[in-house]
Amino acid sequence: MTDASKYYKIEENKLIRTHRTCPKCGTGFFLGDHYDRYVCGFCRYTVFKRKGKKGTTGGARRRTPRKRTKSN
Ligand SMILES: [Zn+2]
Repeated sequence: MTDASKYYKIEENKLIRTHRTCPKCGTGFFLGDHYDRYVCGFCRYTVFKRKGKKGTTGGARRRTPRKRTKSN
């Protein structure tokens, strides 16, 4: 038996999960908390933590190809 009580807490009759669960294995499987990612110990599913800082993905502007207007 694993002590799952530490993975969630109950506040105001609502169950609040403090750990992320594996979408592949189901709600019973919690992801291991690493410093930059969550990893499922069962299927090795990995979820990278998103940092609140901007610039990692939003900084690089994606180039949109412009429509070429043919002007003969
Ligand atoms: Zn899993």
